[in-house]
Order: sequence, then C-alpha cells, then structure tokens
Amino acid sequence: MQTTFIMRITGRIFVCYDCPFGGNISQPIRDVRDEFLTNLHLGNALTARTLNGNLIRDQIYGELSGEIAALAAEGIRPGLAAVLVGDNPASKLYVNSKIAACGKLGLSSFLVTPPASITTSELLAVVEELNQRDDVDGILVQMPLPKQVEAKKILDAVDPAKDVDGFHPINVGHLVAGRPGLVACTPAGVMEILRRSDITIDGANAVVMGRSDIVGKPMALLLLHANATVTICHSRTRELKETVRRADIVVAAMGRAAMVTSDYIRPGATVIDVGQNVITDAAEAQRIFANFPEKLESFRAKGSVLVGDVHPDVMQIAGAFTPVPGGVGPLTIALLMSNTVKAARMRRGRQGSRTPIATAANR
Ligand code: NAP
Repeated sequence: MQTTFIMRITGRIFVCYDCPFGGNISQPIRDVRDEFLTNLHLGNALTARTLNGNLIRDQIYGELSGEIAALAAEGIRPGLAAVLVGDNPASKLYVNSKIAACGKLGLSSFLVTPPASITTSELLAVVEELNQRDDVDGILVQMPLPKQVEAKKILDAVDPAKDVDGFHPINVGHLVAGRPGLVACTPAGVMEILRRSDITIDGANAVVMGRSDIVGKPMALLLLHANATVTICHSRTRELKETVRRADIVVAAMGRAAMVTSDYIRPGATVIDVGQNVITDAAEAQRIFANFPEKLESFRAKGSVLVGDVHPDVMQIAGAFTPVPGGVGPLTIALLMSNTVKAARMRRGRQGSRTPIATAANR
C-alpha cells in the first residue's frame, strides 16, 4: 500500500509518498505560520474521514418522521406511486427498496407494474391517471424503460408538482433559476452529505466529473448555488487529471469503475463517489482491491463486487470521502422520501416545519 507522510519544509506542509525523504514530494497543501519547522517528519499516514451515508440517511429519516407526524396531525399522508415497467431485476430491486422506505416512514405507496410490451401511449395514460389522483403526491417512473417507449415523453408527462425525481424540464428550470422546487435526488443527497459533514462549499473549487441530466448537471448547479466555483468535466475534457487535481471537492459520476486514482486528487480534498459499478472480472477486482483483502475475499465468495468511480486507494490521500457502498447510495432514497413529503406540502400550500436547522425537505 502506498504510504503518505506529511512533511513541513520552511513553513509549508507537503505530502510525500512512500518514504519520508526519498519519496516523491507533491505540491504544498497549505501554508502554515511556523517558518522554522524544517524537515520535521511527522510520520502520520493520512487517512481520509469517511462520510458515512447511512448515518446521514438516518438523520434525515429522523427529521422526516417529525414532518410526517405533523402532516398526519392535519390528516395528510404523503403518497408515492412507483411505475415499474417489465421485470428488469435491478429495477425491481431499486423500486422495492423505495417502497420499503415508504413503509418504514409511514408514507403511502402504490406500485404500478405494466408489462414490458407497453406502448408509449399506454404508459402516458398510466401517468395521467396518477397525475389526477389526489392520494398520490409523488410519481416515479423507474428507468430504463423498454426500447419501444419514448422515455422523454413519459418523463415530460409527469405533473411537475409530483415529479419527485426532479427530472421534469420545469423543475430543472427552477433549479437553474435557483427557485424552490423538486431537485434530482442523488445530487441533492450529495449536498446533504457535504453540508452535514461541515465541508466548506462556499468559495471552494469543485469539479463534477460527468454531465448527465440526472447527476452531473444538477450537481454542478447545486454546488454553484452554494457558491462553489464549479468545473464540469466529461469524456471530451482535455487535461482531465490536472483539472480534477485543482479541486477542493471532487464529485465523480461517470460510471467508470475506479477510474479516479490518487494522482487525480489534491491531498486533503473531499471526494464524493457517486459511481456504482458491479465488477465480475477477477483480474479487475484484483487490480482495484489489491490493498483490500476483505473485498477480494468477498469477491471470491460472491463472484462480484460493487465499486465506485473512485479507486479505493484514494482514501490514502483525500481529506474526506464517501465509501461505496454506504456513501451516496443511501442518500438517493432518503431524498426521494424527502421530495415526496415536500411535494405533499407544496401541493397543499403548506410551509415546511420551522426547525433550527434546514431539513432536507425544507431546502
Ligand atoms: P451517464 O448518464 O452514463 O453519464 C456519465 C457521464 O460521465 C457522461 O457525462 C460522460 O461524458 C462522463 N464520462 C464517461 N466516461 C468518462 C471519462 N472517461 N472521463 C470523463 N468523463 C466521462 O451516467 P449517470 O447516470 O450520470 O451515472 C453515473 C454513475 O453514477 C454511474 O455509475 C451510476 O450507476 C451512478 N449513479 C449512482 C446513483 C446512486 O444513487 N448512488 C444514482 C445515479 C447514478 P459524456 O457526456 O461526454 O459522454
């Protein structure tokens, strides 16, 4: 495993790899006032702070329970309708966990399961019926849809007031304009992780790797509204490594297993790993998890392992990072629940509860 040491040379902190004095010295990571601590080898291996998504999810669920109880006292029970077309096993798994979260929090849930052969117009009719129902506050149409269905038409047909995925152009427009509305769950979840972990966003250099409509673009806008200086990278970005290395906050959302290696990361940066990639190739698992014998063990037992877009060795150099699993993933469902509560309130003209901190559903 690569070992990282901190050195102070003429008052600046440096990070050097492998060996305190023979190693490869990186850029200074921050100035210090003391000018005379020369060549002081502190010998501490840098280990990033783990940003635990499960704990943050539980915190959000705790707040939501109070908000749901307050709505119940007014006779309102927020309801989420999930449309699961066909029998894609991964989609089933996702939808089941969303329905289970509704049950846990006391929200109503409705599962609609049209066959994989459904046409665009038939699915539009399903969505229209859910738009009309008063007991349905949120509608999610699980992606991907079968090839014959025009996904954009379906997403555009969802009532923007019930669009708890935040994909409708009207909600995207609200996000661009910095107006309140329903925001895509995964990027909104990343913001909860950053805020609740006291990561400074204001004035930070943030790099978002990936420009998809559901993660990269809304992520960049949320960071921008929180006063970060944002760079969006994609598959055509030149000097990708150098660009990412300038970031205080890196959000990786490319769907490329363990692509972001330590040489992309400025020592001490916060690294948020949105990627979820299932590895089934033994050589690839060995390459990625060489320093994580317990992961290799689990791979051998199951024949697959989940890995993010960030190489796990990055935790040796980052200041804080989200693990995979257990980082961003749990927040996506938490923010879906939060959006359902928010939609229920907004549809009925209710204000959010006045709590000392802004809850996820109040932002
Ligand atoms: P996507 O629609 O495939 O978009 C991927 C983006 O990454 C594109 O903008 C693409 O650039 C860029 N990209 C691909 N290869 C690149 C490279 N070598 N260098 C730089 N940029 C590159 O993916 P997505 O839906 O945003 O999802 C991204 C990842 O997040 C996936 O692993 C997905 O499973 C995961 N995800 C996780 C959650 C969660 O709850 N944790 C939720 C959603 C998504 P171009 O635009 O130039 O093609």
